Amino acid sequence: MRTIFPSPEVIHGHPPPVPVARKTSCEPIFSTQTANSLAMIIITRPDATEEQIQHIVSRVADWGLRAEVSRGEMRVVIGVIGAEDKIRQKPLGAFPGVESVMPVLKPYKLVSYEFRGTASRVKVGDVVVGAKEVVVMAGPCSVESEDQILSIAHSIRDSGAKILRGGAFKPRTSPYSFQGLGKVGLQLLAEARRESGLPIITEVMDTKDLELVAEYADCLQIGARNMQNFSLLREVGRTQLPVMLKRGMAASIKDLLMSAEYILSEGNFNVLLCERGIRTFETMTRNTLDLNAVPVLKAETHLPVVVDPTHGIGIRDFVPAMALAAVAAGADSIMIEVHNAPELAKSDGEQSLLPKDFDDLVRRVRGVAEAVGRAL
Ligand code: PEP
Ligand code: MN
Repeated sequence: MRTIFPSPEVIHGHPPPVPVARKTSCEPIFSTQTANSLAMIIITRPDATEEQIQHIVSRVADWGLRAEVSRGEMRVVIGVIGAEDKIRQKPLGAFPGVESVMPVLKPYKLVSYEFRGTASRVKVGDVVVGAKEVVVMAGPCSVESEDQILSIAHSIRDSGAKILRGGAFKPRTSPYSFQGLGKVGLQLLAEARRESGLPIITEVMDTKDLELVAEYADCLQIGARNMQNFSLLREVGRTQLPVMLKRGMAASIKDLLMSAEYILSEGNFNVLLCERGIRTFETMTRNTLDLNAVPVLKAETHLPVVVDPTHGIGIRDFVPAMALAAVAAGADSIMIEVHNAPELAKSDGEQSLLPKDFDDLVRRVRGVAEAVGRAL
C-alpha cells in the first residue's frame, strides 16, 4: 500500500524527558463580553487611604462589576468594567477618597493606558517585562533537535538573554515546509528550560492545541497570522498565562490593540504586544519593521511592548541595527532568532544570527539601553 503520510522525523539523542506538570487554568476568571460594556476610571485622591480603596473595590464587586486596581507613584487608579446600563446607575464618584471618575472613550478599554494610569509589568517565569530592564528573548525559529535547542539555549543565556524562544507548532506559508515537531518540540523546550534555567515562549496556533502548549509554555505566542483569530484570543484570555500577541502583517496598530482587548476582556491581563513588521510595497526587506508603533503603543496602552527585528527585516546582517533602534525607540523587550547552524535551519535560517553575533549584539544593546535610561 502506498504511504501517504511519512513517519514522523526521528529526534536524535535520548528520549525526551517527562514534562513537568504545570498548573494552568482554562476556567474563565471573569468575562466582560457583554454587548455593551463600559469602562470607567476612578482616580483616587493622593491622600486616599487603603481602607477607602478596599471599600470601593468590594462595593464594585458586590454590584457584579470588575475592579482593576493600579498603583502608580502618586495615586491609585481603579478601572471598573461591566455592562453599561449597570455602571451608569452607580454613584462611583460618591465614595470617600475619590477625586474624579471618567469613562474610557477609546474602543480598546482594558488595554488603554488610562485604564491603569501606569505601565503594566508582565512576569514570564521569574523574568519581569515592562520594568527598567530591557528583556532579551532569543532562540531558534523552530525547535529542531535536542542538540540544537540545548546548545542555543546555553549560548544565548551566557550572552545575556532572559527568555528562550522556539517554535514547536510552526505557521508556514507553504504546507510542504517544515511544520514543527509538535509535542516533541515542547518536550525539548521543557528540557532546555530545565538545563538552562530560562523560561520559554512558544507559539500556539490553534485552540485545539492550547491545553497541550499551556502545559509547557511560560509564555504563549500568538503569531502574526493569528492576530485576529478571535476564538484563539478568547481561549488564551481564559488562562492566566502570559501571552505575546504579534501584530498581523496587514494589521493597523489599532487592530492590534483591539485584538489584545479580546484577551484582557476574558480576564487575562498578562499580555505583551509585539511589533514584527508589516507588509508594505517595499521588496528589499522581508517586512517593514514599523518602529513608529513603539512610542504610539507606549502612549496608548499600559501593556509592555516587544519588538521582533528578525522577522521585521528578515535579513541577518541588518537585524542588529533594527534591534538597537527598537531599544532606542522604547521597546521593553526584543526577540531575536539565533541558530547555531543557520545554513541547516529548517526555518528562517537566512535571518537568524549566529551565537557569536548575538553575543556581540547584546553588548551593543546594553549600551543603547543605558543611553535611553534603561538597563540590561
Ligand atoms: C516566529 O516567531 O517564528 C513567527 C512565525 O513569527 P510571525 O508570526 O511574526 O511571523
Ligand atoms: Mn521565524
